[in-house]
Amino acid sequence: MNAVRQIDEANRTMTLEAGVTLERAQQIAHQYGLLYPLSLASEGSATIGGNLATNAGGTQVLRYGNTRDLCLGLELVLPNGEVWSGLNTLRKNNTGYDMKHLFIGAEGTLGVITAAVLKLFPAPVDTLTAFIATKDLNHVVQAFNACQKQFDAQLTAFEYISPNALNLVCEQFNYLHPFADEPQAHVALIEISNTSTQADALNALHQSFHSHISSAIEQGHIRNAIVAQSGAQQTQFWRIREQISAAQKRVGKNIKHDISVPISAIAEFVKITCAELELHYPSIEPTIFGHIGDGNLHFNVSRGQAFADANALMAAETDINQIVYIQVQKYNGSISAEHGIGLLKRDWLEVLKSPVELNLMSIIKQGLDPFNIMNPGKILNQ
Ligand SMILES: Cc1cc2nc3c(=O)[nH]c(=O)nc-3n(C[C@H](O)[C@H](O)[C@H](O)COP(=O)(O)OP(=O)(O)OC[C@H]3O[C@@H](n4cnc5c(N)ncnc54)[C@H](O)[C@@H]3O)c2cc1C
Repeated sequence: MNAVRQIDEANRTMTLEAGVTLERAQQIAHQYGLLYPLSLASEGSATIGGNLATNAGGTQVLRYGNTRDLCLGLELVLPNGEVWSGLNTLRKNNTGYDMKHLFIGAEGTLGVITAAVLKLFPAPVDTLTAFIATKDLNHVVQAFNACQKQFDAQLTAFEYISPNALNLVCEQFNYLHPFADEPQAHVALIEISNTSTQADALNALHQSFHSHISSAIEQGHIRNAIVAQSGAQQTQFWRIREQISAAQKRVGKNIKHDISVPISAIAEFVKITCAELELHYPSIEPTIFGHIGDGNLHFNVSRGQAFADANALMAAETDINQIVYIQVQKYNGSISAEHGIGLLKRDWLEVLKSPVELNLMSIIKQGLDPFNIMNPGKILNQ
């Protein structure tokens, strides 16, 4: 299941079988001078089928949406063995229920995806990549809003890295801290993409970004900025962001939360949740990073000074999850922004989703898979 079924350049779509890896899908698009914008640290091994089943997000959701937004049609095998060939290539098709959305993000509980029609976009001609340093998370959110207002669709990524996360990844991998004099800075990695082939377009973008940054510094909104001067430096900036999870793994177990809250509530949510955690576990230091433009934070708790050892940390897992998820609920957030429910968060889903919604999900599952043969026990406890 890893064939390329069709590339339609004029329609800007590609039809791929589900076993094609995300990296290969990106390369196929690239060969046609186009972009398949989904981008994840696991892209070398993750497949199109897995991306769809988990409705994967990643770093470019801000501009292009998550996997659900990138899919026009699906082919799949239903639990009763029937094949649904829904390889729609249309951008407009209002003919009743849009069935593909049932299967995207269903984590393989309703059917096996065998192929998909995916949207393609004009490939950026150049990108501008920069780190900015700010005083606190509030200022990061302000900087995001200002950047989006100024650059709109050209803003293709805006990633937050907390002081803990940045110090950890730099220490673990011997990376140069981009703001070595300010280890307590709250940092964002910004990517602005230029799709215009006009010769002076990148220069204009650089100038406009520089004046945007200068005025933000003058007004005290941000403290400092570094713009990557080469492709190699851009890659290095992204490496710092993408290796945070690996750096956390190196220092031992941690309790992961993949949460989202409205962008306007991010700074307050973090402040209140950290204070609540600190109340119960003094000296606790969550390692926080994520996709500010999507309101999605990876709010991870590792051992730090608050726990004697990894066992003590893991013994507190349920309690820590409860503290975090109660705040998520208060801020109308989600306990799983992009990693799905699986088995680990299933019990939380039962607590946090409304009975009406749970019942609807259960009706759909039973209707399509009455013998519960598709990933039994995942998402729903049945
Ligand atoms: C290092 C790392 C970084 C990551 N970063 C991100 C990130 O930034 N954003 C994000 O959203 N996610 C991220 N993820 C999780 C990501 O969603 C998955 O890696 C990827 O999308 C899943 O693809 P996979 O092929 O590995 O699926 P698997 O892990 O093999 O499967 C995932 C689920 O999908 C089901 N499934 C797989 N294939 C099919 C199919 N053909 N039909 C039906 N069901 C199927 C499986 O049964 C399983 O329930 C990351 C994961 C790793 C390991």
